[in-house]
Amino acid sequence: MSRAFFRPVLSLAAITCLFAGAAGAQERYSFDEETLEIVHALSEAGLDSDLAYELTEELTTVIGPRFAGTEQDVRARAWAVNRLTELGFENVRDEEFEMDFWTRGPFGAEEVYITAPFPQPLIATTLGGSAGTPDGGIEAEVVFFASFDDLVAYDDAPDALQGKIVYVNDRMVAAQNASGYSPANRKRTQAWFHAEDRGAVGVLVRSVGTSSNRFPHTGMMSRPEGRRATIPAMALAGPDADQMQRIHERGETITLRMSTQAGWRGRATSGNVIGEIVGSEAPEEIIVIGGHLDTWDNSPGALDDGSGVGITTAAAKLILDSGHRPRRTIRVVLFGAEEVGLLGARAYAQARVEDGTLDNHIIGSESDLGAGPVWRLTSNVAAHAYPFFDAMQVEMQHLGVLRGPNSGSGGPDIIPLQALGMPVARLQQDGMEIFEFHHTPNDTFDKIVPEEMAQNVAAWTMFTWFLADTEMQFREVAEE
Ligand SMILES: [Zn+2]
Repeated sequence: MSRAFFRPVLSLAAITCLFAGAAGAQERYSFDEETLEIVHALSEAGLDSDLAYELTEELTTVIGPRFAGTEQDVRARAWAVNRLTELGFENVRDEEFEMDFWTRGPFGAEEVYITAPFPQPLIATTLGGSAGTPDGGIEAEVVFFASFDDLVAYDDAPDALQGKIVYVNDRMVAAQNASGYSPANRKRTQAWFHAEDRGAVGVLVRSVGTSSNRFPHTGMMSRPEGRRATIPAMALAGPDADQMQRIHERGETITLRMSTQAGWRGRATSGNVIGEIVGSEAPEEIIVIGGHLDTWDNSPGALDDGSGVGITTAAAKLILDSGHRPRRTIRVVLFGAEEVGLLGARAYAQARVEDGTLDNHIIGSESDLGAGPVWRLTSNVAAHAYPFFDAMQVEMQHLGVLRGPNSGSGGPDIIPLQALGMPVARLQQDGMEIFEFHHTPNDTFDKIVPEEMAQNVAAWTMFTWFLADTEMQFREVAEE
């Protein structure tokens, strides 16, 4: 699927007279002519650029999977440092941090097998943070839960599920704004401790994803207060979950065997790779953009998040090449260890608290929902800045970008900074297809549509310039 994007001849701001923004009708913000000239040239350059596509091709081909803490993570960070340096970014560095290291063990060592009533193998993947099983696996009767909420509401006596394998079946719904992910994801992140606390010996869930192919979706489980699972936890591919459901609907009691060699394996090092365009007038003021460099272990992570690395790096590079230097510093952060719990994002935020530059972070945003078209601009900024964002959207109409609400996050790796008070915004990508591939072996480079990726770069380069070359502040201003 591809689409054409219109290139405006006239400034769209000039022909806009009636526009109700996120907070309803209010005063308008107008960009000056020089700003409009620069951003329109950047948009043209973005639509014509294949740099994001080339960077993502190179990262996914030359490095491949780059699971945090592994040798491939080391190679990915070296690649990123070299690439950012070659492209002309300033202050390029790799800020390393230590982390707990979990692996699934060898591929092919994972198994889910129905032993009764209808013996057959199922396609499954181990979830991040799972414990391993004894040699030969575990075998137990399944307690079937139609939904995560049913599991939570179940008898919470410590032996209520003694010796059983918990299965949770609820489905993820595809949506443009990806709103199906969070509710479906609760069973991946939290079912394990609800099962373990009731005496279960294993937990199995329907994959958090929308693929109807036999690709199971992996992903990290949560670790409340650093707690580690003592039971195995796995996810079934969608069609295999359907198979479980059909057997259950026949009134049968299901018995399963699960085996996995997953486990926590000491400590490891990862890092955040950073490059900058130093601001001309207010270099201490920082606009953070980026993606995450790490992937799951089962794919080269073209959509999650090789494309975010490519899109944001290319967008900043177009600004470097524009002949104009913005007032503020643009900092591209390629976060490490996102998939295993936003560890790079937390380390980055902690480091800024320690070096005293947190309050210099003007606003932040991440590209981390694949390479599909950007469809709306959301913000989470002080009310006085709404008209500024409304005016940004007007300039992005030719790219098909709508104005979204003033709520939500700037992307997963931006969450720790947002929690510390940094304003955020987001160029939301279409979420209908990404969860076909997300966290599966099928997240490969062929899924990227070059024209859609170029639309992202055009939107990102405009967005980044607008935020970096203004004096507008996005935090609440104290009343005088
Ligand atoms: Zn991601």
